[in-house]
Amino acid sequence: MKNIVINDQYDQLDLKPSQLIERYISLTQRDVGKILADPAQLSVCHCPACGATEKQQAFVKFSLTYQECQHCRTLYVSPRPNDTMLNDYYLKSDARAFWCNELSQLTDKKRKEKVIKPRFQWILESTREYFPNAKTWVDINTSQYSYIDAMADADIFENKILLNPYLPLEPQDYPRVAIVKKPWWEEPAIDQVSVISLFEVIDHTADVGRLMATVNAMLSKGGLCFLTAILSSGFDIQTLWEQAENLHPPDRLNCFSVKGLHALFEKYGFECLELSTPGIFDLEFVAKKLKEQPCLNVPRFVRDLIERKDEETKRAFQEFLQSACMSSYGRILIRKKG
Ligand SMILES: [Zn+2]
Repeated sequence: MKNIVINDQYDQLDLKPSQLIERYISLTQRDVGKILADPAQLSVCHCPACGATEKQQAFVKFSLTYQECQHCRTLYVSPRPNDTMLNDYYLKSDARAFWCNELSQLTDKKRKEKVIKPRFQWILESTREYFPNAKTWVDINTSQYSYIDAMADADIFENKILLNPYLPLEPQDYPRVAIVKKPWWEEPAIDQVSVISLFEVIDHTADVGRLMATVNAMLSKGGLCFLTAILSSGFDIQTLWEQAENLHPPDRLNCFSVKGLHALFEKYGFECLELSTPGIFDLEFVAKKLKEQPCLNVPRFVRDLIERKDEETKRAFQEFLQSACMSSYGRILIRKKG
């Protein structure tokens, strides 16, 4: 199984300006309270990764409770809203409108260069290696417009399909991709697919098992699925825990561990070809939080590393996190077993 390490330098603020992120989080908190937090509509669930029933309450965020699986250490919200409620949230919430209309647009150019280009390179190179006769690529629920342009340019695929009810897309604006404005669970007619991409989708899916079973049914034999996710086993999540800025519902309804993901893929008939954590911001996220809250309780070793070590040491530490699969940004390639 592959594990890719990336040596890159850029500031996380290039990608996500701090004030905009704060605004997005505050809108999210308000919308979750209005749309998703009614206890009468939430259901208790077991670990969405390994299925274990043993859990321990980790913390509460925006009135929803995160549990930690005692078997695989995945973090997940339970009781939780279902996918229909989440669909409603992502269609109506002010937070999502702010993300699509402002945050995503403002950071689009930087994201194209730093995030989208390498991600598509990864998809194209891996497809050539593992499925050279690939014909159809389906993306499920991307939240980034620039993905669509990059997808349209991917000439190795004859057919490109966006399964996405959330972005206000007009077919005439994207003539080289087919747009299906439906949630993934309403489109069983798509099959014999070569490649499916799920960028941060498993993070905010309530019934992940149903999603993985649907993906398996849509793929042809040997078909590939590319995923990205934020991982609970990553350094900044482990260090900051409930203080981690990017760990909040509903965007991170699930925060899988590496161990949990392996269990999930095995259960739904996939072989894992790559599980890398090429994140470059773990230490920077913790440093940012420490700057905002100097009294934050973090291990002495971490504080020393952030406050007293030089940039080269910090970079070496981040590279170690990548090589040991201990960063919180995960990119994964799985293949449907034949
Ligand atoms: Zn588990």
